[in-house]
Amino acid sequence: MSYVDEIYAKVVEQNPGEAEFHQAVKEVLDSLKLVIDANEEKYRKMALLERLVEPERIISFRVPWVDDNGQVQVNKGYRVQFNSAIGPYKGGLRLHPSVNQGILKFLGFEQVFKNSLTGLPIGGGKGGSNFDPKGKSDREVMAFCQSFMTELSKYIGADQDVPAGDIGVGAREIGYLYGQYKRMTGLYEGVLTGKGLNYGGSLVRTQATGYGLVYILDEMLRNNGKELNGKTVVVSGSGNVAIYATEKAQQLGAKVVALSDSNGYIYDKDGIKLDIVKEIKEVRRGRIKEYVDAVPTAAYTEGKGIWTIACDIALPCATQNELNLEDAKALKANGCFAVAEGANMPSTREATDFFLESGMLFMPGKAANAGGVATSALEMSQNSQRLAWTFDEVDVKLKDIMVNIFAKADDAAKRYGVAGNYVAGANIAGFEKVVDAMMAQGIV
Ligand code: GLU
Repeated sequence: MSYVDEIYAKVVEQNPGEAEFHQAVKEVLDSLKLVIDANEEKYRKMALLERLVEPERIISFRVPWVDDNGQVQVNKGYRVQFNSAIGPYKGGLRLHPSVNQGILKFLGFEQVFKNSLTGLPIGGGKGGSNFDPKGKSDREVMAFCQSFMTELSKYIGADQDVPAGDIGVGAREIGYLYGQYKRMTGLYEGVLTGKGLNYGGSLVRTQATGYGLVYILDEMLRNNGKELNGKTVVVSGSGNVAIYATEKAQQLGAKVVALSDSNGYIYDKDGIKLDIVKEIKEVRRGRIKEYVDAVPTAAYTEGKGIWTIACDIALPCATQNELNLEDAKALKANGCFAVAEGANMPSTREATDFFLESGMLFMPGKAANAGGVATSALEMSQNSQRLAWTFDEVDVKLKDIMVNIFAKADDAAKRYGVAGNYVAGANIAGFEKVVDAMMAQGIV
């Protein structure tokens, strides 16, 4: 058995029931086969892959809080500190009922390679809880965040581990978490990113994941003789990533015709009116179906099916495994020629393979959505400097980072004889930097 296959078998055996983690590891290991085979003896002796797939540390804890009826609730809290070879652990916190240790290990593992691709000094981590913020009052969200941070504050720090937002964690939650960290430790430091602008946040961080996604999409299209201007785009999700991907795509001349949430999707043939979506999602914290109350010419469909809408470009920005083989085939059949992932691993392995085999342009999440964490690293730089950069300064840096990520993925794919396969390219390029640092730092 090859080293890569051996390690994958071990991961499955030693991490039972963690399907998403297995999936993320398999995709990376399959891409790395060529690189590993060329260095097999050296890597085996150093147990490099064994170390790469094992988180440095997982912290799991109880999160008790009191709901509005005076009832005590208990959730599970986690922080997966996956790899610190190239910098302090960095990655978001996810609050969603689906969160468990396996999901966070998959996200933490992806984060290691994503963060490496940004070119910035950040290791990989992820955390969160199975707490469901949907339908909770502000006070309940605050009570949860304070309890969560009371425990988490023992394990994080500006030079140690810097959490941020992810699904279910936006500006409100980061504010409550930051306040409690400060109270517990007495430190006013850049321990979280995605902070409000008045207390150490960075301009562009809110927009960064969505904008970055469209910057790298644009770069991929231009490198393949195509352009975004005039194209029809379907975006799934309607959270932070989806909203700002839509905004940037519209600014660059594309027409976004659909958005979704976990209940269903909207289709607006005239193009999504983003101010209405922002009012529903960012102000009212409502559901996407409310869009048709304001725009009666648009249609709302309950359930899945967003990928059956005809488009040139698809941007899955909702959640993991939201796009399967059948969806991929429907996209292709309807003329879609490019897919870039705003969410983490939104395409199943079968869908990813179909995109690659059918010659569609495909940019995987760990490259395409890296603009969020990259701008978080820029927020960390500003906090260390005790300065705040202008919107344009940060935006120019973000764009530069995304163009560089494209170049790295493109170059690595070409070097290993798989030109145009940005999945392999991103995995290899991300791996090279981490592995070099791990080898240099010895057996740790
Ligand atoms: N949750 C985002 C991600 O998946 C951002 C993490 C961060 O800014 O640290 O990359």
